[in-house]
This record gives sequence, C-alpha cells and structure tokens, in this order.
Amino acid sequence: MKYEQFGSTGYQVSSLGFGAMNLPGVPFEQAKQALNFALDHGINYIDTAAAYKNSEEIIGESISHRRQEYFLATKTGERSYENAKAQIERSLVRMKTDYLDLVQVHYVNYAEEYKTIMGEKGAYEALIEAKQEGKVRFIGISGHRPDLLARWISKGQFDQVLFHLSLVQPFALRELIPMAIKQGMGRTAMKPLSGGFVQPVDKAIRYSYVQEVNTIISGMISVDQVKENIKAMDIQVSSEEKLELEQLASELGSHSCRRCNYCSCPLEISIPDVMISSVVREKFGLLPKGQQWFEKHREKITACSDYEPCKDKPLCEDKCPYHLPMQRTVQNAALLYS
Ligand code: SF4
Ligand code: SF4
Repeated sequence: MKYEQFGSTGYQVSSLGFGAMNLPGVPFEQAKQALNFALDHGINYIDTAAAYKNSEEIIGESISHRRQEYFLATKTGERSYENAKAQIERSLVRMKTDYLDLVQVHYVNYAEEYKTIMGEKGAYEALIEAKQEGKVRFIGISGHRPDLLARWISKGQFDQVLFHLSLVQPFALRELIPMAIKQGMGRTAMKPLSGGFVQPVDKAIRYSYVQEVNTIISGMISVDQVKENIKAMDIQVSSEEKLELEQLASELGSHSCRRCNYCSCPLEISIPDVMISSVVREKFGLLPKGQQWFEKHREKITACSDYEPCKDKPLCEDKCPYHLPMQRTVQNAALLYS
C-alpha cells in the first residue's frame, strides 16, 4: 500500500480508501470482517455518509475500538445550519466516536444549493462551528459537476474535495484536480468502476491510481473484494501502461456524461447508467453486475422509443448541460433486446 500526504491535513493517507456505501446490503458479520481486514492490510481511510442507510452504525459497531487506526470521512446532505448540526451529532453517536476527521457537504450539484449551504444559517456554518468545537477536523465538498466544483473550491473554504474519476469519467483531470492542488486540498477520487459498469476491473482501478489524487475510494463489501482492490494497486504502473490507460480513457470518456442527474426521465430510465454502460459495452462487453442491471431495466429502456411526449422533442435532452444525445443512446441500448 502506498501512502501520501492528504492535502494540508498532515495525515498520511493510504492510496486505497474503503467505501462503506454498500455495507448495509450485506450480513453484518461479513461487513465487519471486510472492514477489519482492510485495516489489518493497510487501508486507513474509511468513507461513508449519513445517507447510506445504516452504514455509519456498521462502522461504529465494527471498528470503533480501533479508532486511532483510520481517518474517518462522512458526509452531510443537509443544507441548513440546524439540520447539518443535528446530523453531525447523529454521525458521532452512530460511529461511536467523539470526532470526525472529515465531513463533506454531500452531492452539491446546483449553484442555488451551493448558495444556500454557504449563506447565512447554511450547513457550512454548522461545519465551521463543529470544527471550532473539535468535533470535526476538516471540511470537504462532494459533487458530480467537476466544472462547478472547480469554481467553488477556488475560494479556499474547503480542506478536501471528493469527485468521480474513472476510465469513463476522466473529467476531474481538466480543471478540478489542478485547482485542488493549487489550493493544497485533499483529493479523493470515487467510483473507479463507475457503479460496477467499467471493466477490466484492474485497469479501471489502476487508471485512477496513476492520477494526482491522494486516495481512491472503492466500494467494498467482502474480504475478497478488499483483496482484489489491494492487489490491483500493488503493482507499479509502467509508463507504457499509463499511456495505454490514458488512451482507453480518451476513447471511453468521449460520451461526456458526468452523472449530474439533471436529466430526469418520466419513464424513470436511469439515463446516466445507460450512457456510461453503453460506451463500455461497445468496447468490452459488460460485467455480470452491468448485465443484470440491463435485464432489470429492460422494460423501461425499450419503452423510450414509443413514448409519445418525447416523439418530437426528447424531454431529457433540454436538461443536459453538455447537450448529449441521450434519446439516441437509450434507443440504441434498447436495440439489444429486439
Ligand atoms: S427520450 Fe426517452 S430517455 Fe429521454 S425523457 Fe424521453 S423517454 Fe426518457
Ligand atoms: S446525460 Fe447529461 S444531464 Fe444526464 S447525467 Fe449525464 S451529463 Fe448529466
């Protein structure tokens, strides 16, 4: 495991972080073993969020007795001072600790939301107060719009930023990571497999690994997955492999979907999943998890072409800040079932 300085926090963070988002979906003993195995094998960054069902409780029950061994990062999705303050208190209780190393304002994707958070009686005020009281050590921000995040962090009010980075979503490399470096911030990348669609798994993890990030959070649910992730990071990436990975990212990342989720569909088609998986499927085919996802959503995806209100003008496309051809991509994906 490689360690490096986590922005200006003074913490030596492991290059692989444990994403605890999916732990609520597995038996408690399995989750506990995975977390403890990760700590035993050098992972020292645990990431969760108040919104991830009982993930915080699982962490509290499983590893709070080893609190000195990990940097604990959680998130608040609250936007107001009162609600964020209450949520921070809840996170402390749930994770059986008297301090949180990092609280990230969760999933900030709209300028209006950002204004509320940073304004009078906004969530940021609660975070500053918790920091002064020693309950929170550092403040971060996460979101799915790298261009907006780059602008927001330029004001120097955050210690860390959390963003997507994968072979299909290399966008943080353009403005966001350079800005975070300039600000001396901790840089945490997430979703190297983009929700389980990207493969080959080892290449996907190694792509994020060679970028200028301090740690990569990978969602893990078992000891075997922890082993697989550690193994993918253990081998040095050669300059030839780096070139090959960059080439792959420029091919796979050309569709430009940021997963900002602005594009709601009346049929509840998860457009970003279709956009991202389509590009991977063309090149490599899908992993079993991706294939299962498609089967599960087959009915909705195939209904797009007959959906009357979108016949003249697709309702989704107006909402995309990147003007992507979502209708065409969804309808092409549906052809697989014909
Ligand atoms: S074009 Fe298809 S994907 Fe887009 S909003 Fe209409 S039904 Fe949904
Ligand atoms: S298709 Fe456009 S609007 Fe929808 S998630 Fe992707 S980038 Fe955002």
